[in-house]
Amino acid sequence: MESRMRDKESLVRRMAWPESASRAVGTPIQPSVVYASPDPDTLDAQYEGRVQGYTYAREGHPNADVLAFKIDSLERADGGIVLGSGMAAVAAVLMGLTRAGDHVLGGDQLYGRSLRLMREDLPRLGVATSLADPTDAARFIAAIRPETRLILLEVVSNPTLRVADMAAIMAEARARGVLVVVDNTFTTPRGYQPFAHGADIVLHSVTKILAGHSDATLGYVAAADPAHRKAIYDFAVTVGFTPSPFDCWLAERGLYSFELRYDRAEENARALADHIAGLPGVRRVLYPTRPDHPDHNRAVALLGTRGGHMVSFEIGGGRAAANRLTQAAPNIAFAPTLGDIGTTLSHPASSSHRALGAEGRAALGISEGFFRVSVGVEDINLLTHEFETAIRAATA
Ligand SMILES: *Cc1c(COP(=O)(O)O)cnc(C)c1O
Repeated sequence: MESRMRDKESLVRRMAWPESASRAVGTPIQPSVVYASPDPDTLDAQYEGRVQGYTYAREGHPNADVLAFKIDSLERADGGIVLGSGMAAVAAVLMGLTRAGDHVLGGDQLYGRSLRLMREDLPRLGVATSLADPTDAARFIAAIRPETRLILLEVVSNPTLRVADMAAIMAEARARGVLVVVDNTFTTPRGYQPFAHGADIVLHSVTKILAGHSDATLGYVAAADPAHRKAIYDFAVTVGFTPSPFDCWLAERGLYSFELRYDRAEENARALADHIAGLPGVRRVLYPTRPDHPDHNRAVALLGTRGGHMVSFEIGGGRAAANRLTQAAPNIAFAPTLGDIGTTLSHPASSSHRALGAEGRAALGISEGFFRVSVGVEDINLLTHEFETAIRAATA
């Protein structure tokens, strides 16, 4: 080692990885952008897919593939692609699979940026879009047009946790040759497996509970048809929706505990929803599998007992009470995210749904006293105590 370092010329040469008779238990991180092939014939074979080999990180790298493979196994998918964010996944699907003249139909409570992509960007490129309420299958189906290329759905909406009529919409889409794309971020493959129900494409914001620690921004997409997969992949590589190897490594590490975290968070969410529902000053609690949920029957048919890790609730008293509530819950991060290992609290009126205006929010039932909780894995007694204290302070 010492003599090699003394040789000036070798300083810019890469060294072989040190040999070891034992092997690392953890996954290595490979940040290399470029890969050296032995000769042009091998490079040809790589590009033509006759041998597996990496060339340039924008086109793919080992840490992305390890992560994709793991999410594939959860979604029972093949050839999933990891991208630089959940929105990169949404954009790669909507822009990779449509052309001018097509129409895209979306649920009317999709993730805010997905709505923006549909309202602002696709029309600019000649792709028409419209939104409809997917909890009302007849109305949603009536919005399908002859030129509808694809439908984008989330199973459980944000923040009112309404449950889409997946079965009826998918059956009709299938009959009419319209692709069904499911953003499965909220429900996760633990709650719902879109491919088993006939979806054509499944995508995720891996940023949320799959990675689970609020330290990596990533997306994932898988397609049942290899031709769709290729169109999405080619578009994503061309526009550079590349994920960072380090983010992929962090997300992979998070994923090892995903099932444990999800199950615990879901158990906590169910118990927290029931606890909050019994507190004075609480106007309503939304949790998909509770009997008082507006889509209770559909939620049970679709998700069984898997109500998920999200709970929403509403108190009276307007913005002043909302301010008191977050101030009285200092241990619960008031942050517009979800899926972190710890519980986070979001206030749609001042964050995700601020652009809608008071009237738009009222139409969705989102008042100044409406909160959404992404429940974490803490001790449930701690959580019920903290929420009870905060709700009492806010509504006293
Ligand atoms: C967060 C989120 C996205 C976007 O994901 P990013 O990783 O933040 O780009 C898309 N869909 C849903 C349902 C989300 O919650």
